[in-house]
Amino acid sequence: MSIPYYDCIAHHAMRQPGSLAAVDLSTERRHSYRALDERIARLAGSLRSQWDIAAGDRVAVLAPNSTDTFEVQLACGRIGAIFVPLNWRLAGPELHAILGDCAPALLIHDAEFADRARDLARGCGITRMVALGPEFERMALDGPALDQPMAATLDDVSTILYTSGTTGRPKGAIITHGMNFWNTVHSISLAGVGRSSVFLGLLPLFHTGGLNVFAYPVFQAGGTVMIMRSFDPGEALRLIGDPSVGVTHLFGVPANFQFMAQHPGFRETDMSRLVFAGVGGAPTPDAILRTWQDQGAVLQQGYGMTETSPLVLVLDRQDAVRKAGSAGKPVLHGQTRVVGDDGADVAPRAVGELWVKGPHVTQGYWNQPEVTEAAFSDGWLHTGDAALVDDEGFYFIVDRWKDMYISGGENVYPAEVENVLYQHEQIAEAAVIGVTDARWGQVGRAIVVVKPGCELSEDAVIGHCAANLARYKLPQSVVFTEALPRNATGKVHKPTLRRSFGES
Ligand code: AMP
Repeated sequence: MSIPYYDCIAHHAMRQPGSLAAVDLSTERRHSYRALDERIARLAGSLRSQWDIAAGDRVAVLAPNSTDTFEVQLACGRIGAIFVPLNWRLAGPELHAILGDCAPALLIHDAEFADRARDLARGCGITRMVALGPEFERMALDGPALDQPMAATLDDVSTILYTSGTTGRPKGAIITHGMNFWNTVHSISLAGVGRSSVFLGLLPLFHTGGLNVFAYPVFQAGGTVMIMRSFDPGEALRLIGDPSVGVTHLFGVPANFQFMAQHPGFRETDMSRLVFAGVGGAPTPDAILRTWQDQGAVLQQGYGMTETSPLVLVLDRQDAVRKAGSAGKPVLHGQTRVVGDDGADVAPRAVGELWVKGPHVTQGYWNQPEVTEAAFSDGWLHTGDAALVDDEGFYFIVDRWKDMYISGGENVYPAEVENVLYQHEQIAEAAVIGVTDARWGQVGRAIVVVKPGCELSEDAVIGHCAANLARYKLPQSVVFTEALPRNATGKVHKPTLRRSFGES
């Protein structure tokens, strides 16, 4: 039997209508659950009657973060339409490929992106468009309220999320209501999400982190979601430290925490109200964890991916200091294995590929049965990540398999070398790639950004690594640059680094 999908905003509008549901920080709009429910009902009614959107149709959104994006997702849920948030940092041809793949019936865009949206719509044969701002507000405030939401189940598709940093044909992960539901169960049990949670959203809403860690779970629980238009380290610190805002939950990629730690306001920020400060999405250097600990905030690592909506592993607070560097242990309703090349589980402490199975895992990729088939064995999703489990059952994400290189026959995981580079007090940002070498096959190259006012030589960087790492792991060359290339979520974009600095 399929479990029905229930709308959490309608539920809390009935249970606690006056409670604050959503805050759009850039426009200072604040919506109670009653008001948010009303807006979503009118949007859903407008989508159906004004724009003729039917169940199964895709509705794409091209916009920086705002509470409007959630309203579109939830309105789509009420009429059975599929929400597709777009990475607005992508170039025209990339967005063109995504829109060609999902063929939306409607494109909703920020006024700022009107020209791009028009070009894309023309190129992709999209005839219906709505601009955020007055046109969208008319739908949300004056549209015909949908009185009867469509009956849906947890197996129905909620969203298509195109995965970040891909090359070639875009891959749209199919996200069901059920995947989001199970992620909520895990967020409530492992991150203490509840009705009194105040979540500050830093990550983009076209990414699973922005949508699901912890915005959607907080709506499910009846708490408050605050959304930044784009990440601003100083403003984030101000909000975290302000007792009248009362932020309890936070989640970011390592770069968010690193940039906040480098901000002049960091040392004055009172972190004492944070219930859960989560970090994940990329390898987290120990130095970042320590800096935040010193400021009274224990960062708890989590691991996940778009295809798992996303929580797979979470490190509990009581273990966060003792097991710093671990991504924790598996969530309750999910299974994990660490598998070798032969498809069998590796021995404890050995490195293998992490595989995941469970109700939080995607059915596959939109329009791509072959890619879906290649990603799974017997229902187990191959994550593409190298991991190991220690004697106490703690998981460590070693790195992406694809980022590993082999030097003189030995596997080198760049994340381990980067971890050491971040311990150097004059280094602001660091990344390591493998480059071809006549003698060793491949050797490491460090790409380093030094802190403002500091000067560092190649020898000093390599010398620092030599004091902390085995010889074969030492970078053989160092390139100094102004800033590392990052994707829209803030993760270092290794393909760009390899293109720019990968020549031997
Ligand atoms: P995305 O689908 O964009 O969220 O990217 C998922 C990928 O981010 C994973 O496959 C990992 O490579 C990486 N990732 C997520 N969490 C962690 C973590 N805690 N440590 C290291 N890498 C991570």
